[in-house]
Amino acid sequence: MDASFYTGKVAGNEAIVIAVSSGRCRLFREGREIDCVIPSEIAKRQRSALAVGDRVIAEPIEAALWRLKEILPRRTVLSRPDPMNPRVERLIAANIDLVVNVVSIRNPPLRPGLIDRFLIAAQRGGAQPAICVNKIDLAANREDALEPLRVYEGLQIPVVACSTKTGEGIDALRTLLSGKTSALVGHSGVGKSSILNALDATLSLATADLHKKGSGRHTTTSSTLFDLGDETYVIDTPGIREFGLWDLTPETLRESFPEFQEAAEWCRFNDCTHLHEPDCEVKRRVESGAINPARYDAYVRLAEDLRK
Ligand code: GDP
Ligand code: ZN
Repeated sequence: MDASFYTGKVAGNEAIVIAVSSGRCRLFREGREIDCVIPSEIAKRQRSALAVGDRVIAEPIEAALWRLKEILPRRTVLSRPDPMNPRVERLIAANIDLVVNVVSIRNPPLRPGLIDRFLIAAQRGGAQPAICVNKIDLAANREDALEPLRVYEGLQIPVVACSTKTGEGIDALRTLLSGKTSALVGHSGVGKSSILNALDATLSLATADLHKKGSGRHTTTSSTLFDLGDETYVIDTPGIREFGLWDLTPETLRESFPEFQEAAEWCRFNDCTHLHEPDCEVKRRVESGAINPARYDAYVRLAEDLRK
């Protein structure tokens, strides 16, 4: 896949991980893609397995095959609990600047309640969050359709509406991603592959439409990094239905809602959880509309999940 050739700067024998499968990974180094073996002692030693976006040191064992020596410290991570075993952390991507939650207006329908989880996962891992609303061409009334997302703009989170059918918003998305390493996350079918193709036609990724015509596997089961040039990297991630949250406590959950912070100073108890306490300023502001009720509901649901 020529378009994904790594052209960025990686020092010395450092390489970047573009795909991971069991026991093997694919690296970009000095403009070339290399197959690389992951020795079992590294797989075990790592707190969690190798992730796409990881910076690594590798050495050649033969011309076309290298061996992984070391995984360099991660700047940021995007992770979630393993759906099969919630005590195990699953890395989705590493060293990303931006996590873009891709949602769609229809097919699948917009469910703003799921966005809060992605935002928290991004922030907890150290990356900036953003929201991309695809299939805006399917909105009967775009103002009404985008209404539930205004609250995120109020929180200084970029919201880009786009359509891969009309091309609307694709330039704005390109600008948002430019010079950064970003992960696209979201439910399958929202149009992640179509968006990547719209950003860079040379990628020619299979989309659900091509799949219907029978040309190969569509469902992405692991993350893949693409080089869009000019130091811009985008990681396509497997479609995720509901994002479980890794390493979240009641305290860090509260901190994940920045709009609660100032209000909390006026709650009667300084360790107020804003759930059941009397004289709670957060609840007062939810009633007055100063804090968005949908965000408060998301907080309550997540707090309940944590107690399970
Ligand atoms: P992915 O699973 O997130 O990678 O989604 P795909 O890129 O495979 O797209 C899923 C379906 O949505 C396909 O049938 C696309 O043609 C369709 N689709 C993608 N983007 C748009 C869009 O902007 N507008 C409309 N109407 N359909 C879109
Ligand atoms: Zn309170």
